Amino acid sequence: MRSRREDTVRRAASSETAGAEAAGEVGAGPEVAEAALTTEPARRAGAVDDELMTLYPDAACALDHDGPFQLLVATVLSAQTTDARVNTVTPELFERYPDAAALGAARREDLEAILRPLGFQRAKAGHLLGIGQALTERFEGRVPRSREELVALPGVGRKTANVVLGNAFGQPAITVDTHVGRLSRRLGWTTSKDPLRVEKDIAALWEPWRWTDGCHRLIEHGRQVCSARSPRCGQCTLLEAGLCPQVGV
Ligand code: SF4
Repeated sequence: MRSRREDTVRRAASSETAGAEAAGEVGAGPEVAEAALTTEPARRAGAVDDELMTLYPDAACALDHDGPFQLLVATVLSAQTTDARVNTVTPELFERYPDAAALGAARREDLEAILRPLGFQRAKAGHLLGIGQALTERFEGRVPRSREELVALPGVGRKTANVVLGNAFGQPAITVDTHVGRLSRRLGWTTSKDPLRVEKDIAALWEPWRWTDGCHRLIEHGRQVCSARSPRCGQCTLLEAGLCPQVGV
């Protein structure tokens, strides 16, 4: 007779195959055929999210913000630092520079002084100046709603664009940060360390309505239970439910 753990590992292995096949070529969008979402691996990935929903019903973006402009700026600032640290500088930043025009006209040295606690203040000040000017000149001061336009802004990559699309504009988007990548591999959803590949593998398993908040839930689980160095598998609901094959743990 097969143990529950063996059963889980077997299913997870087929999850990797199904995910890779359904995701298609890297570089395309994350759209996935409806049929792919009815497979057993997808059902199990959905069950993981259901469990996490119970554990973290209020999981949400940890960056303090009010509206797309502030979220865009805060997300750009979160590179190479923690969300909590970003939240310590943004109140002063947004009070002094409440919109794109004000940010684009800021004195670089003033911006650097505010951003110093985050590190990389020179580069980050440059990105914020560029974003303020680009939004003012090209988008009448507003944040664009397409990924293509967002990633054309200074300091904005696919991850930042997805955070803004998902959390400010309600467009389903998968944000692959260090926690989402690590958990996806341990859960057997992907074998890749490439964020775009991971994004596509998750998209092959989750319905779009799970994407944005499901990532917040994975992040929360990564912070509280499934840490990089010492995952607490013995206390993990996902193991108890037979939903984690503990790949690489
Ligand atoms: S803590 Fe262990 S059982 Fe839980 S998700 Fe992480 S690897 Fe899986």
